[in-house]
Amino acid sequence: MRILVANDDGYLAPGLAALADRMRSLGEVFVIAPESNHSGASNSLTLTRPLSVREASNGFFYVNGTPTDCVHIAMTGLLQQRPDLVVSGINNGQNMGDDTIYSGTVAAAMEGYLFGVPAIAFSQVEKGHAHLDAAAQVAAEFVMRFIRDPLPSPILLNVNIPNRPLSDLRGLRVTRLGKRHQSEPVIRATDPHGSPIYWIGPAGVAKDAGPGTDFHAVENGYVSITPLQIDLTHCGQIEVVEQWLQRGSR
Ligand code: MN
Repeated sequence: MRILVANDDGYLAPGLAALADRMRSLGEVFVIAPESNHSGASNSLTLTRPLSVREASNGFFYVNGTPTDCVHIAMTGLLQQRPDLVVSGINNGQNMGDDTIYSGTVAAAMEGYLFGVPAIAFSQVEKGHAHLDAAAQVAAEFVMRFIRDPLPSPILLNVNIPNRPLSDLRGLRVTRLGKRHQSEPVIRATDPHGSPIYWIGPAGVAKDAGPGTDFHAVENGYVSITPLQIDLTHCGQIEVVEQWLQRGSR
Protein backbone atom coordinates (compact mmCIF):
# COMPACT_ATOMS: atom_id res chain seq x y z
CA MET A 1 0.00 0.00 0.00
CA ARG A 2 1.54 3.29 -1.14
CA ILE A 3 0.08 6.28 0.66
CA LEU A 4 0.64 9.87 -0.44
CA VAL A 5 0.23 12.34 2.43
CA ALA A 6 -0.30 16.06 1.76
CA ASN A 7 -1.90 19.10 3.40
CA ASP A 8 -2.48 22.83 2.98
CA ASP A 9 -1.16 24.07 6.33
CA GLY A 10 2.45 23.53 5.23
CA TYR A 11 5.11 20.89 5.82
CA LEU A 12 5.79 22.05 9.40
CA ALA A 13 2.16 21.66 10.52
CA PRO A 14 1.53 19.37 13.51
CA GLY A 15 -1.47 17.82 11.76
CA LEU A 16 0.69 16.62 8.87
CA ALA A 17 3.23 14.97 11.17
CA ALA A 18 0.46 13.29 13.18
CA LEU A 19 -1.20 11.92 10.04
CA ALA A 20 2.06 10.79 8.41
CA ASP A 21 3.21 9.03 11.59
CA ARG A 22 0.00 7.00 11.77
CA MET A 23 0.07 6.14 8.07
CA ARG A 24 3.54 4.58 8.37
CA SER A 25 2.14 1.49 10.07
CA LEU A 26 -0.31 1.02 7.19
CA GLY A 27 1.96 1.27 4.19
CA GLU A 28 4.77 2.97 2.35
CA VAL A 29 4.39 6.69 3.01
CA PHE A 30 5.45 9.65 0.90
CA VAL A 31 4.85 13.13 2.32
CA ILE A 32 4.69 16.25 0.16
CA ALA A 33 3.32 19.58 1.36
CA PRO A 34 3.52 23.30 0.67
CA GLU A 35 6.49 25.21 2.10
CA SER A 36 4.12 27.76 3.67
CA ASN A 37 0.52 27.79 4.81
CA HIS A 38 -1.86 27.68 1.85
CA SER A 39 -5.19 27.40 3.62
CA GLY A 40 -7.88 28.74 1.29
CA ALA A 41 -5.80 28.00 -1.82
CA SER A 42 -8.53 25.80 -3.27
CA ASN A 43 -7.49 23.94 -6.43
CA SER A 44 -4.98 26.53 -7.65
CA LEU A 45 -2.01 25.42 -9.74
CA THR A 46 1.12 27.57 -10.06
CA LEU A 47 1.60 28.18 -13.77
CA THR A 48 3.59 31.43 -13.82
CA ARG A 49 6.89 30.10 -12.47
CA PRO A 50 8.69 26.79 -12.01
CA LEU A 51 8.51 24.97 -8.67
CA SER A 52 11.20 23.51 -6.42
CA VAL A 53 10.86 20.32 -4.43
CA ARG A 54 13.11 20.03 -1.38
CA GLU A 55 13.48 17.42 1.34
CA ALA A 56 13.32 18.32 5.03
CA SER A 57 15.47 16.51 7.63
CA ASN A 58 12.46 14.39 8.66
CA GLY A 59 12.05 13.11 5.10
CA PHE A 60 9.02 15.25 4.24
CA PHE A 61 9.17 16.87 0.81
CA TYR A 62 8.09 20.49 0.47
CA VAL A 63 7.20 22.66 -2.49
CA ASN A 64 7.17 26.44 -2.91
CA GLY A 65 3.66 26.17 -4.27
CA THR A 66 0.09 25.17 -3.49
CA PRO A 67 -1.43 21.96 -2.10
CA THR A 68 -2.62 21.07 -5.60
CA ASP A 69 0.88 21.69 -6.98
CA CYS A 70 2.25 19.20 -4.44
CA VAL A 71 -0.04 16.33 -5.36
CA HIS A 72 0.12 17.17 -9.06
CA ILE A 73 3.93 17.06 -9.08
CA ALA A 74 3.95 13.81 -7.12
CA MET A 75 1.48 12.20 -9.52
CA THR A 76 2.98 13.41 -12.76
CA GLY A 77 6.71 13.20 -12.34
CA LEU A 78 8.14 12.84 -8.88
CA LEU A 79 6.86 9.42 -7.82
CA GLN A 80 8.07 6.31 -9.62
CA GLN A 81 4.77 4.62 -8.95
CA ARG A 82 1.32 6.04 -8.50
CA PRO A 83 0.05 5.88 -4.89
CA ASP A 84 -2.87 3.63 -3.94
CA LEU A 85 -4.33 6.30 -1.68
CA VAL A 86 -4.02 10.04 -1.12
CA VAL A 87 -4.71 11.44 2.35
CA SER A 88 -4.69 15.14 3.19
CA GLY A 89 -4.53 16.91 6.55
CA ILE A 90 -5.03 16.75 9.36
CA ASN A 91 -6.20 20.32 8.79
CA ASN A 92 -6.05 22.88 11.57
CA GLY A 93 -9.77 23.70 11.46
CA GLN A 94 -12.99 22.50 9.87
CA ASN A 95 -13.74 22.09 6.19
CA MET A 96 -17.51 21.81 6.12
CA GLY A 97 -20.29 23.15 3.92
CA ASP A 98 -19.05 25.93 1.64
CA ASP A 99 -15.52 25.63 3.08
CA THR A 100 -14.94 22.74 0.69
CA ILE A 101 -14.94 25.18 -2.25
CA TYR A 102 -12.03 27.16 -0.79
CA SER A 103 -10.20 24.42 1.08
CA GLY A 104 -6.65 23.52 0.14
CA THR A 105 -6.95 20.40 2.28
CA VAL A 106 -9.86 19.13 0.21
CA ALA A 107 -8.10 20.31 -2.98
CA ALA A 108 -4.99 18.22 -2.24
CA ALA A 109 -7.19 15.14 -1.89
CA MET A 110 -9.21 16.17 -4.93
CA GLU A 111 -6.08 16.28 -7.06
CA GLY A 112 -5.49 12.62 -6.25
CA TYR A 113 -9.11 11.87 -7.04
CA LEU A 114 -8.77 13.64 -10.41
CA PHE A 115 -5.95 11.21 -11.21
CA GLY A 116 -8.20 8.28 -10.31
CA VAL A 117 -6.68 7.58 -6.90
CA PRO A 118 -8.98 7.18 -3.88
CA ALA A 119 -8.58 10.22 -1.67
CA ILE A 120 -9.53 11.29 1.84
CA ALA A 121 -9.31 14.77 3.40
CA PHE A 122 -9.11 14.97 7.21
CA SER A 123 -9.80 18.10 9.28
CA GLN A 124 -10.17 18.82 12.96
CA VAL A 125 -13.28 20.90 13.64
CA GLU A 126 -11.64 23.44 15.99
CA LYS A 127 -8.35 25.19 15.35
CA GLY A 128 -5.46 24.70 17.77
CA HIS A 129 -4.75 20.93 17.51
CA ALA A 130 -6.55 19.95 20.75
CA HIS A 131 -6.83 16.13 20.87
CA LEU A 132 -4.76 15.78 17.69
CA ASP A 133 -3.72 12.27 18.80
CA ALA A 134 -7.36 11.20 18.86
CA ALA A 135 -7.95 12.67 15.39
CA ALA A 136 -4.88 10.87 14.05
CA GLN A 137 -6.13 7.63 15.60
CA VAL A 138 -9.52 8.13 13.93
CA ALA A 139 -7.76 8.76 10.61
CA ALA A 140 -5.63 5.63 11.02
CA GLU A 141 -8.62 3.43 11.86
CA PHE A 142 -10.54 4.92 8.96
CA VAL A 143 -7.74 4.28 6.47
CA MET A 144 -7.23 0.77 7.90
CA ARG A 145 -10.91 0.07 7.29
CA PHE A 146 -10.59 1.42 3.76
CA ILE A 147 -7.57 -0.79 3.02
CA ARG A 148 -9.36 -3.87 4.37
CA ASP A 149 -12.57 -3.11 2.53
CA PRO A 150 -12.04 -0.52 -0.23
CA LEU A 151 -14.96 1.54 -1.52
CA PRO A 152 -15.50 1.47 -5.29
CA SER A 153 -13.20 3.97 -7.01
CA PRO A 154 -13.17 6.83 -7.81
CA ILE A 155 -13.95 8.07 -4.32
CA LEU A 156 -13.29 11.37 -2.55
CA LEU A 157 -14.20 11.59 1.12
CA ASN A 158 -14.23 14.70 3.31
CA VAL A 159 -13.79 13.80 6.98
CA ASN A 160 -14.24 16.27 9.85
CA ILE A 161 -13.29 15.19 13.35
CA PRO A 162 -14.51 16.92 16.54
CA ASN A 163 -11.70 17.90 18.93
CA ARG A 164 -12.49 15.37 21.62
CA PRO A 165 -10.73 12.51 23.37
CA LEU A 166 -11.38 9.17 21.64
CA SER A 167 -13.71 8.09 24.44
CA ASP A 168 -15.93 11.16 23.84
CA LEU A 169 -16.34 10.61 20.09
CA ARG A 170 -19.75 9.08 19.43
CA GLY A 171 -18.96 7.32 16.16
CA LEU A 172 -19.00 7.92 12.41
CA ARG A 173 -21.79 9.56 10.42
CA VAL A 174 -22.15 9.79 6.65
CA THR A 175 -23.33 13.32 5.87
CA ARG A 176 -24.08 15.86 3.18
CA LEU A 177 -22.47 19.29 3.13
CA GLY A 178 -24.36 21.96 5.05
CA LYS A 179 -24.46 25.59 4.05
CA ARG A 180 -23.04 28.71 5.65
CA HIS A 181 -24.35 32.25 5.89
CA GLN A 182 -22.44 34.82 3.84
CA SER A 183 -18.87 35.49 4.97
CA GLU A 184 -18.15 38.17 7.54
CA PRO A 185 -17.41 41.54 5.89
CA VAL A 186 -13.91 42.35 4.78
CA ILE A 187 -11.89 44.42 7.26
CA ARG A 188 -10.90 47.76 5.77
CA ALA A 189 -7.93 49.64 7.17
CA THR A 190 -5.28 52.08 5.98
CA ASP A 191 -1.69 51.10 5.38
CA PRO A 192 1.19 53.25 6.76
CA HIS A 193 1.33 55.14 3.45
CA GLY A 194 -2.32 56.12 3.49
CA SER A 195 -3.68 53.62 0.99
CA PRO A 196 -6.75 51.55 1.84
CA ILE A 197 -6.12 47.84 2.53
CA TYR A 198 -8.60 45.00 2.88
CA TRP A 199 -8.33 41.86 4.96
CA ILE A 200 -10.74 39.07 4.09
CA GLY A 201 -12.84 38.09 7.10
CA PRO A 202 -13.87 34.69 8.43
CA ALA A 203 -16.46 32.38 6.87
CA GLY A 204 -20.08 32.81 7.91
CA VAL A 205 -21.69 30.69 10.59
CA ALA A 206 -23.71 27.61 9.65
CA LYS A 207 -27.13 28.26 8.11
CA ASP A 208 -28.19 24.82 6.89
CA ALA A 209 -26.98 22.70 9.77
CA GLY A 210 -29.93 20.36 10.17
CA PRO A 211 -29.90 16.59 10.65
CA GLY A 212 -27.93 14.86 7.90
CA THR A 213 -25.41 17.68 7.49
CA ASP A 214 -21.72 17.70 8.39
CA PHE A 215 -22.35 20.60 10.81
CA HIS A 216 -25.02 18.63 12.64
CA ALA A 217 -22.89 15.48 12.95
CA VAL A 218 -19.84 17.17 14.49
CA GLU A 219 -22.02 19.35 16.72
CA ASN A 220 -23.34 16.12 18.20
CA GLY A 221 -19.91 14.58 18.68
CA TYR A 222 -19.76 12.39 15.57
CA VAL A 223 -17.01 12.19 12.98
CA SER A 224 -18.54 13.51 9.74
CA ILE A 225 -17.83 11.72 6.46
CA THR A 226 -19.07 13.40 3.27
CA PRO A 227 -18.55 11.76 -0.12
CA LEU A 228 -17.74 14.54 -2.60
CA GLN A 229 -18.05 14.90 -6.37
CA ILE A 230 -16.59 17.56 -8.65
CA ASP A 231 -19.11 18.05 -11.47
CA LEU A 232 -20.63 21.49 -10.82
CA THR A 233 -23.33 21.10 -13.46
CA HIS A 234 -26.68 22.18 -12.06
CA CYS A 235 -28.74 19.54 -13.85
CA GLY A 236 -31.99 20.99 -12.51
CA GLN A 237 -31.33 24.27 -14.34
CA ILE A 238 -30.37 22.92 -17.75
CA GLU A 239 -34.01 22.92 -18.84
CA VAL A 240 -34.64 26.37 -17.33
CA VAL A 241 -31.71 27.94 -19.20
CA GLU A 242 -32.63 26.06 -22.37
CA GLN A 243 -36.13 27.53 -22.28
CA TRP A 244 -34.77 30.99 -21.44
CA LEU A 245 -32.52 30.84 -24.53
CA GLN A 246 -35.42 29.82 -26.73
CA ARG A 247 -37.53 32.74 -25.47
CA GLY A 248 -34.74 35.15 -26.43
CA SER A 249 -34.44 33.83 -29.97
CA ARG A 250 -38.06 34.52 -30.80
MN1 MN B 1 -5.46 24.63 6.36
